[in-house]
Amino acid sequence: MAIVVQKENCIGCGACISICPVGAIEFEANGKAEIGENCIACGACISECPVKCIIREQVNNRLIIDLDSYKNIWVYIECEKNRPKNVAYELLGVARRLADASGEECVAIVIGGLSQKYLQDLIANGADKVYYLENNNYLEYNTEIYTQVVTDLVKEHKPNALLIGATVNGRDLAPRIAGRLKTGLCADCTAIDNSAEEAKLIEWTRPAFGGNIMATIVCPEHRPQMGSVRPKVFPVSRADYSRKGEIILIKEPNLQDNLVKILETIVDISAERVNIQDAEIICAGGRGMGNKETFEQLYTLADLLGGVVAGSRAVVESGWLEHHAQVGQSGVTVGPKVYFAFGISGAIQHLAGINACDMIIAINKDANAPIFKAADYGIVGDVQKILPILIEKIRAIKVEQE
Ligand SMILES: Cc1cc2nc3c(=O)[nH]c(=O)nc-3n(C[C@H](O)[C@H](O)[C@H](O)COP(=O)(O)OP(=O)(O)OC[C@H]3O[C@@H](n4cnc5c(N)ncnc54)[C@H](O)[C@@H]3O)c2cc1C
Repeated sequence: MAIVVQKENCIGCGACISICPVGAIEFEANGKAEIGENCIACGACISECPVKCIIREQVNNRLIIDLDSYKNIWVYIECEKNRPKNVAYELLGVARRLADASGEECVAIVIGGLSQKYLQDLIANGADKVYYLENNNYLEYNTEIYTQVVTDLVKEHKPNALLIGATVNGRDLAPRIAGRLKTGLCADCTAIDNSAEEAKLIEWTRPAFGGNIMATIVCPEHRPQMGSVRPKVFPVSRADYSRKGEIILIKEPNLQDNLVKILETIVDISAERVNIQDAEIICAGGRGMGNKETFEQLYTLADLLGGVVAGSRAVVESGWLEHHAQVGQSGVTVGPKVYFAFGISGAIQHLAGINACDMIIAINKDANAPIFKAADYGIVGDVQKILPILIEKIRAIKVEQE
C-alpha cells in the first residue's frame, strides 16, 4: 500500500516532514506536502498529521488472499549430518506457543534423511505433524531443490506462518520462498508473538535503523506470514516424549527446473576451528582490552575454563579477532552457560547477541557501562589488573584439583 497526501486537506504545517525517518516528504511549490519515492511506508506521518490528510492508498494490482484458508504454524527443520540443527528445536518451541495461542497445529518440514529417532524428537519438541521428504540425494542443502520443495508444500497446504532459522542456508532459502509466494519475510526476529487483537496475526519484532529501535512488524494481507530467527535467540523447550504426532512422507518434486548442480563442497575450516555458537563458556573482550597482547590473554583464560574466545565488533575492526568470532547483531548470537565480557561497553548491537546467555559476568572500569544492566555479576575495575588475577586464581584451583 502506498502512502499519499490528500492535497485538498493539507494545511502545510510540516509535521509530517519532521517526523519522516527517511526524509521522504517535501513541500511542493504550493506549500502542500508531497511524498517522495524513497518513502518506506512506515506510516509515522499518518499518525502525526493533525488534519488526518495522509492515508494508505490501496494499490490496484494488489494480490487478494483468502486469509481464512491459511492455517497452522510451520517450521522448516534444517539438518546437518543427518540430524536437526539446534535452531530447529528452538523454532519448534516458538511455533508450538504460537499454535497453542491461535488454536492451530505446529507442523515441521524435513528434507533429506533423518532416522526415526530424530523424527520422533520433532514431535516430542512440539510438532503435531512432520512432512518428510526422504531422499539421500538431498542430504546437502541445494538452493533450487529446497526452495521448490518447500514452496510446493506451502502452496498445497497453505500454512498461516512459516519459521526458518537464520543460518547461512536459511538466509538463502527464506527470501527465495517468500519471493516465489509473493509474501513478506521478517528477517532476524528477536521476539515473535500472536497479536493481542487477532491471534492468527503474528507480530515479528526485530532491530531496525542500525539496531537503535526495535520494530514490530505484521504481514496483514499476505500468507504465509514468514520470519527468520537466528540460532540461540530462543531457548529449546523441554521435550515431551508422551506427545503423539503424525509423520507424513511427501512425494518427490518434479525437478525439471533445477539448474544447480553441486560439484564440490569446500568446508570453511576457520569457522569450524572456533564455534562460538555452541560454546558453553565464552571469554569475550572488547576495545577496553586496550591492545592485542592483553586481548590474547583471554585465550589463556578460555583454555583453563574449556571455553572459547569471542569479542565485540570493535576488536574485530581492530584486527585482534576474526569476524566469525564476533558476537552481536552483525555477528553471531550466542547462548553459553557463562559469558565473560571484558572491557565491552554493552552497545545495543552487542547485547542483541547475548540475550540467551545463562550467566553474564562483566568486567568494566566504568560503573555506568550498559553491560552491567545485562550482567548477572559485575566487577568494576581495570581488565589489565583483573584478568591476570583471575587467570592466576583459576590456575591455582585447577592445580589443587589435580
Ligand atoms: C549496524 C550495526 C551493527 C553492529 N553490530 C555489532 C555487533 O554485531 N557486535 C558488536 O559488538 N558491535 C556491533 N556494532 C557496534 C556497536 O555499536 C559498538 O560500537 C561496539 O559493540 C563497541 O564495542 P566495545 O564495547 O568493545 O567498545 P567500546 O564501546 O569502545 O567500549 C569499551 C568499553 O571498555 C571499557 N574499558 C576501557 N578501558 C578499560 C579497562 N582498562 N578496563 C576495563 N574496562 C575498560 C570502557 O569503559 C567501555 O565500556 C554494530 C553497530 C552498528 C551500527
